[in-house]
Order: sequence, then structure tokens, then C-alpha cells
Amino acid sequence: QSFAKKTFKSIKGKAQKALHRSLDQHVKLAVTGLSGSGKTAFITALVKHLTTQADDKNLPFFDVMREHRHVATKVVPQEALKVPTFNYTRALNSLLPSDGMPTWPASTERINTLRLAIKYQSNAGLRGHFSPQSTLYLDIIDYPGEWLLDLPMLEQSYAQWCEQQYPLLTQPSRVNTSSDFLMAVEQLDLNAPVDENALAHIAQLYQSMLVELKKDTKLAMLQPGRMLMPGDLQGAPLLLFFPVSGEINSDDVVAGSNLAHLIKRFNAYIKEVVKPFYNEHFRHFDRQIVLVDVLSALNEGHETLQEQSSVINQLLAHFNYGESGFFKRLFKPNIDKILFAANKSDHISAKHHKDLALLLDSLVHEQSNHLKFDGVKIETMAMSSITATQPRQITDKGQTLDCIYGKPLNEPDWLTYLPPQPPSRMLNKNEWPAQGFEFLSFSPMPSPDKQLKHIRLDHVMQYLLGDKLT
Ligand code: GDP
Repeated sequence: QSFAKKTFKSIKGKAQKALHRSLDQHVKLAVTGLSGSGKTAFITALVKHLTTQADDKNLPFFDVMREHRHVATKVVPQEALKVPTFNYTRALNSLLPSDGMPTWPASTERINTLRLAIKYQSNAGLRGHFSPQSTLYLDIIDYPGEWLLDLPMLEQSYAQWCEQQYPLLTQPSRVNTSSDFLMAVEQLDLNAPVDENALAHIAQLYQSMLVELKKDTKLAMLQPGRMLMPGDLQGAPLLLFFPVSGEINSDDVVAGSNLAHLIKRFNAYIKEVVKPFYNEHFRHFDRQIVLVDVLSALNEGHETLQEQSSVINQLLAHFNYGESGFFKRLFKPNIDKILFAANKSDHISAKHHKDLALLLDSLVHEQSNHLKFDGVKIETMAMSSITATQPRQITDKGQTLDCIYGKPLNEPDWLTYLPPQPPSRMLNKNEWPAQGFEFLSFSPMPSPDKQLKHIRLDHVMQYLLGDKLT
């Protein structure tokens, strides 16, 4: 009998251990957005709030905090040994320096990751009974949104890609920047035996052109994504290709010619860069936040906002899990919740946050209406990871104005200013205000108490993680 008892005990012990193990959950949260959209600042704020500002005062709308169930969060060693670690300490030191003015941390230019262990008190039920405390392992994965713009290339041949990309470069908004490249391509004899130097030179022109287009016009439909954000691939032959003009008939490509090499590199890029990213990373993500810098797009004008909207469309194709979705067939992604966040809402006054959220919502929904999202939840919000301004009310001729106060980026003086009101939906060209929009950017605020402030980061956390912390 005692033997039976013992066995029962040990089985029970084992079962409890197994239960404990299965209670430890893992979530992979992917953070993306085009460069400058605020990924680095977002991750820094997220980690800071979970590790040292984790309470109901800082995060009132995050259930685990409001219900006082959060025990402690720590940065722990990551499991992905091939991926660089997000440099949280460096980012935090630039935002909260021990002396001198705070500065924005340097943006990251390739994929990186950080793992947090969030220990919390479970809510109720079985979990509460057996295991008063659970741990959620949160892998945060930061990667350039530019890389997702390569998705359509998966379905294209080099000839089809050229047909689509080349005409774009001759558009009025691009031609000033693209003329050197266009001239060089015109002079290249595609059927001549390969001239590696010439191809490298033109690829270099193509890359500088993409980078310049991105910088000057904030245009976003620029391919291949790795040319903008090469990560470790800078200078690799794999990246040395570009689109050419005219019809390409794959049957009469001369072996060993310039054209044959361009085709070879294009195919290698798809096989060795685009596909592995989806297979090794994207496929494993559980949750996705996409940061969108709507205000900068508004600053640039109608065309740029329009292009932001097509970028959103392209990103949404990753979550269009309908039966015919080619992407789903290829990669079987896991993501069940996605959040589009209009970032930097501290650049406008609080009463206009709603407009910003509505504008992003209209950009996303215009695109998502005709797509089919099997079981994927999509949400939009306006937020700010790190607020760099303070609200100030000013009375002018009996009128109360909701201004903001801060130190504009690269300016010596602090300023109280009345930001424009963003439109609450996509405007067409005729509706666009003649004077355009001008939203200022600000330096981060000094913080004597070493605390960061946010706008609606707690709502974001609740949406992305709340159900995993019950
Ligand atoms: P990344 O390239 O996506 O990693 O973007 P960063 O996180 O480096 O952000 C780019 C710039 O946007 C920063 O240098 C800041 O000037 C600004 N920024 C990012 N997040 C915020 C925010 O929450 N509030 C404000 N005011 N500015 C932000």
C-alpha cells in the first residue's frame, strides 16, 4: 500500500512539475515600422516600464498592473543565439544620461532581440490553484519594416520585377534623384559579357538613389528592402542588382551576359535573403506591432501619405490569411493579433489624438476591407512611447489654445507652440491644405527622477499582451 501511495505521490509531483512548465508561456512580439518610425524608442519604453516603472500609476490600463498582479520583470538571456541583442542599456543611457541633455538613442538597422521574463500572479481557476505565480517569457524582436516590402518579389520573376520598378523611377517625384542611375542603366549593354565592375557601380548608384529617395521624400515603396537596410549584407554580391528597362524575354538571355548575372542575383536574393527571413523569423511571431509615423508623412505631403497607405496595404498582405493567400500557403504564419500604432502623438495636442487615430484607421481600413483575415485581430491606436513635450494651455484674445511645450530637435531654445490639427481621414489632392502640414520634432525631456513618460503605452501593452497575463 505504501508503495502505491509513494507512486501516486511521485506521479502527482511529476504532473505538477509538468503543469508548472506548461504554465510558463512564451510569446514572440515583433516590432516593426519603416526606419525612423520609433522602434528603438518603443522597445526601450516597453522594457523600462515593465522592469522599473511597473505599477498601476504608470500603466493604469494594463490589467496585470491595475490588478496588482505583476510580481517582477527581468531581462534574461535570449534563446536565439544568432540574432544580436537589443542594446537596452545604451538606449536608456542616452534617454536618461547621468549628466548632460538626453538624446534619442541611435536607431537599429537590422534585426535584434531581447527576452524578458515577466513573473505575475495568475488570475483565477486551475492556474491560480496549482501555481500562484506564472512566468511569461516575452521575446521582443525588432526588425526593419523595409524588409517586408520585398514580399511581392517572392511571386515575381526578374522580368516582372523590372516591369514594375523601372517605370516608378521615371515618375516626376523620383526622376530628379534617379537620373544618374537611369543614365547609367541606359548605357549598359545587357547582352555583353558580364562586366562585374560596371554592375557593381550601377548597383551602387541604385542604392544611393534609394537611400536618397527615402531620406528626401520619405517615399516608401523602394525595393529591394535590404538595399535600404542592408544589415550584415552591405556590399555582398547578392545585393548588387537593379531593375533595367525594356522587355526581357527569358528565352533569349545570353549565358554569361550582364543580364544573366542580374537575373542570377535577383533569384539568389529571393532564395537566400527574403525566404529565410520569413522561414526563420516571421513565421514564428505571435504578435505584431507596426509603428507608423503618420505625422512625418503628413509633413511631406499628399503623395507621401498616399504611399504610406500603399505600404500599409503591402504589410496587410502578410496577414491576409484567406484561403487563397499565397503567403499563408508558403509560410504558415502564427500571428493572431496585429496593432498599427500612429506613433509620436506627443507632437500634437491631446485633443487631436483622436484625429490621428482616425486617420490611421482610415488608412488601414481602406486597405483591409477587401482582404480576408482568418482569425487575425487588427487594431489601430495613436500613442507615444516616450513623450518629449508637455501640454500647455495659452489664452489668446479670450480663446484657450491647447499648445505643447518642448525643445524642438536641433534647436537651442524651448518653445510653446500650437501644432496643426491632423486630418481625421485620408484627404484627396484637392482637399489638401495649401500651406501643407508642419509638425515639429522634439528632443527628449530631461527627467530628474529617471522616469520615462508615455501616451497610451499601457493600452498598447494590454492589447498585445493582456490576454497572456491572466
Ligand atoms: P527606428 O528607426 O524605427 O528604430 O526609430 P527610432 O526609435 O530611432 O525613432 C526615430 C526618431 O523618432 C527618434 O530619434 C525620435 O526623434 C523620434 N521618436 C521616436 N519615438 C518617439 C516618441 O514616442 N515621441 C517622440 N516625440 N518622438 C519619438
